[in-house]
Amino acid sequence: MTDLLEVKSLKKSFGAVEVLKDVSFSVPSGTVTVIIGPSGSGKTTVLRALNALDPADGGRIRIGDVAVDFDSTVSPAQLRAFRAQSGMVFQQHNLFPHKTVLQNVIEGPVIVQKRARDEAIAEAHRLLDEVGLDVKSDQYPFQLSGGQQQRVGIARALALRPKLMLFDEPTSALDPELVGEVLAVIKGLAAEGWTMVIVTHEIRFAEQVADEVLFIEGGVVVERGKPATVLRNPTEARTRQFLQRIL
Ligand code: ADP
Repeated sequence: MTDLLEVKSLKKSFGAVEVLKDVSFSVPSGTVTVIIGPSGSGKTTVLRALNALDPADGGRIRIGDVAVDFDSTVSPAQLRAFRAQSGMVFQQHNLFPHKTVLQNVIEGPVIVQKRARDEAIAEAHRLLDEVGLDVKSDQYPFQLSGGQQQRVGIARALALRPKLMLFDEPTSALDPELVGEVLAVIKGLAAEGWTMVIVTHEIRFAEQVADEVLFIEGGVVVERGKPATVLRNPTEARTRQFLQRIL
């Protein structure tokens, strides 16, 4: 199996704080990697580097056949091409409040990617159907629950046809009763063969969906492996301590 994502020696500081010291991992095509770790350990920073929202200070990332080397100068055009390889779903949906669900989903394909409007609309309906919300396509975000808004956020990210999907604690801002519907959509994507990197504190979900789990602490990957090992029988004391605190 070839690796869709390859991360080598990723480094990132904010001022004097070295948040990512040397992060390396790879994700085979069609698999799901879940990143766990304490608050402030650099999980979001990794995802934001993968999506070039906050370019790294050093290291190399390859998604498919598009690579960026942060040890050299990266041009804005290179960064844009790299960013287009992945789609990101944030903690908060950040949908456009004055646009309908459908308009939110077609915005990127039509405005950014300049795709034909009819084709983008047809694809948006298909994606909204996939997240169980095509019936809401003419409604506005405020008319939806938080879980429904997150599901629209997923459809919107998928509409840009990324190779890799990134999820940053997609359920952490939701009321507990709304968490399941969002996790179910993500599980559906995993079953379809999407390659995904997911930051989450939902350990049971991680066990169900992950092919590999990374435990990050202090800006390094402390442990990585199969969910049954890392989550149930970790090798590293630091992983054990973290899991004891959250389970
Ligand atoms: P996690 O997702 O594991 O909770 P983050 O990646 O969000 O951790 O943050 C790691 C560290 O980097 C934290 O100490 C945080 O305060 C710091 N940090 C993140 N983003 C910024 C930023 N834009 N400016 C300054 N510090 C930041």
